Amino acid sequence: MEQIDFNITSRGHVWHKLVDSLNQYLDQTEQLAVSPSLDQDEISKWVRQPLQDGLGIDQAMNHVLQGMRQYTVHTPHPSYYGLFNPRANFPSILADTITATFNPQMAAWSHSPFAAEVERYLIDEIAQAFGFEQADGVFASGGAEANQTAVLCALNHAIPHYATKGLVGQSKQPIIYCSTEAHHSVLKSARSSGLGGDCVHTINVDNSLKMCPESLEKQIKQDIQAGYAPLMVVATFGTTGAGSLDSIDEIHQIVDNYGLWLHVDAAYGGALAWSPPHIPLCRPLRLAHSITYDLHKWMSVPMGCSVFVTQNQEILHKTFRVTTEYMPKEAQDLAVTDAFTHSIQWSRRFIGLKLYLSVLTFGWQGYQQLIAHTLTMKDRLVELLNPHWKITNDSALPIVCCIPKEPVAVEKICQQVVASGQAWVSVYPINGVASLRICITNYQTQESHLVGLVDLLNGLLKS
Ligand SMILES: *Cc1c(COP(=O)(O)O)cnc(C)c1O
Repeated sequence: MEQIDFNITSRGHVWHKLVDSLNQYLDQTEQLAVSPSLDQDEISKWVRQPLQDGLGIDQAMNHVLQGMRQYTVHTPHPSYYGLFNPRANFPSILADTITATFNPQMAAWSHSPFAAEVERYLIDEIAQAFGFEQADGVFASGGAEANQTAVLCALNHAIPHYATKGLVGQSKQPIIYCSTEAHHSVLKSARSSGLGGDCVHTINVDNSLKMCPESLEKQIKQDIQAGYAPLMVVATFGTTGAGSLDSIDEIHQIVDNYGLWLHVDAAYGGALAWSPPHIPLCRPLRLAHSITYDLHKWMSVPMGCSVFVTQNQEILHKTFRVTTEYMPKEAQDLAVTDAFTHSIQWSRRFIGLKLYLSVLTFGWQGYQQLIAHTLTMKDRLVELLNPHWKITNDSALPIVCCIPKEPVAVEKICQQVVASGQAWVSVYPINGVASLRICITNYQTQESHLVGLVDLLNGLLKS
């Protein structure tokens, strides 16, 4: 099959061209417009037009690279102040290439023992950073899958026959609690686990957008009286909108009184555990039964890379273990875990390598620097905004929400910024007031970029 596999010489030629092109992209991301124009007809034509006969690899690759350059929001751009999508660090990009090439099958330990042990090591390190003394966990495609894993674990924990009978025979509807600021993947998890979206009872937030513990307790009491069965609380450590951190210790006390499962969605904020000044703030994370943590956000690896970690060492097994005749049995006498018995996924890519190669290259210390840098940039941004903008959120994370001190609508300013191609920002309502949301997720964002952004914003205030 030389046509499919090529030969060593032709592959070498193509690899080098690709490497040159990507290397240039990494060097020149800044010169591109951050966001493309969204002309669907044009893009769809670009996608469909050449597919009659094979183009040959050179032309095919140019076609794809040009499509990616022209028709993508360049999240690796240092002026992309967006939704946690990072610029992937270089070792992590290499790691994804290695993974695609070796294509290890992670379902069974015996097929990919190196990969399995790498992920187990990383799970141990992450769980330890969160203060878990004993832990189990699994890599997931993203926070949505990790949150769904949490809901399934909570169900299997609370309902002894859930794995065989599902919700049949349950006289009381299980209830999931999260704040009105929680991520909507919690709702999706409820829908796809057979609970239904109505089982998610949202709890109001205080002025700094943290879940109100008093309201939580009141709602739980009310629900018990109404004949519901409270199941779990999903606290958010770093909300997607404004970066607020729910008070885990206060919520834990309530959860503990009622014997519920406490899941902490730390998809973005979990990275604070790698910031020495924030270790006290992260201490309550150890009170959680389980945590979602996305590495493809602040930790700068390509999507999708998330972990679900839990202090309950039986629950993943209880939730996902099945046995089959066709899975390999070479390792059945070893004390190892086949990933397919721990996960929603079966065939699975080596998700953890992008984090492992980054940690091998920079050490966890490198991540401390990355996080410190983005936090310093956030402080600088707040200073630069100060003369003309009022900060409307209260977050330890590098998310700044703001409104003009003059009464000017931020929606229009946001549209103009995006249309300019010079930066990408968004709008998020804070206590009913539309605010500009600026999030620093790129380790390459420097003060000069922030000065440029604030100049652009101040210019638009006057126009
Ligand atoms: C991003 C995010 C999610 C969803 O994670 P994905 O990786 O996008 O699936 C869940 N919760 C929070 C708080 C998030 O910020």
